[in-house]
Amino acid sequence: MSHPPFVRAPIVDRLELDIIPAGDPCRLRVVITENATGNETLVPVVVVKTGVEGPVVGVTAAIHGNELNGISVIHKLLGQLKRTPLVAGTLVMVPLVNVPGYLQQQREFPDGADLNRIMPGKPEGNTSQLYAHRFLDRVIRPMEYLFDLHTASTGRINTLYVRADLDDPDIANLAQLMAPQIILHSPKADGTLRGAAQDLGITAITVEVGDPQRLQAGLVRSARLGLQEALEHLGMLPNVSDPDPVDVVTCRRSRWLHSDRGGVLEVTVQLAEVVEPGHPVATLYNIWGDRVRTYTAPERGIVIGRSTNPNAAAGARIVHLGALD
Ligand SMILES: [Zn+2]
Repeated sequence: MSHPPFVRAPIVDRLELDIIPAGDPCRLRVVITENATGNETLVPVVVVKTGVEGPVVGVTAAIHGNELNGISVIHKLLGQLKRTPLVAGTLVMVPLVNVPGYLQQQREFPDGADLNRIMPGKPEGNTSQLYAHRFLDRVIRPMEYLFDLHTASTGRINTLYVRADLDDPDIANLAQLMAPQIILHSPKADGTLRGAAQDLGITAITVEVGDPQRLQAGLVRSARLGLQEALEHLGMLPNVSDPDPVDVVTCRRSRWLHSDRGGVLEVTVQLAEVVEPGHPVATLYNIWGDRVRTYTAPERGIVIGRSTNPNAAAGARIVHLGALD
């Protein structure tokens, strides 16, 4: 087995696409901030620039530091681009947004903030606000399209689903091209990277790829194929073949079902399962093993995500149900 030569990726103050040469993928480390030792916190960025006119498309992963499938999606996409190079436009890939959170194996930034709730940050804010602001300003700003890759949170699992503002036709189209299991209409939310990108005029969607803290080859592959399809549609990859049509379920709204009592929770529905009103979705036991509650679907819906954590205080999340009107 041969290993790549050890070459340090250049350090830059911001992403400047004009000065990046066209051709081979260009690896950069963008300075975002400094830690208490004075060392710079560097965000890895890979730019593939063709030199042929076309859109600037961004793919970001792990703004939540324990959501790792997106990193693998980018790795596999880079591998695929060696076999089928881009023919137009520029692709900007950020395999790791929340570097400090990743180092601590956690979702949040080290000060406890959720980077995907405090965008666009503040230029004179606290540690996380500054990080958010500079990341947006130094890395995201040149993009025209953005795919922000996520997974479920700890203790929960997700289908492959897209959150997108379906009232915007360009965004709705981008969501369809990803061919996920489910598309959930989600107006741009304050504080998210997707929302902040939309405010910058970027056509942005959130792609939820499975479970936290692991690499799931099947879902990674599906997400990578979805990105390739989107890049084909944007004219950046040669149109090799039309994919097999897939059944994408679109939900205009969704809700989390919560427990009203505490105890040991057993969720009894599977991801992407369609449930009718009154269908049992979970049973709650007390610590003695008595059945305390059976929770049922309040309406016809599809299971977008679900809890995997039996440890359920009153108010615990049970099932993320997409409405099927
Ligand atoms: Zn996330």
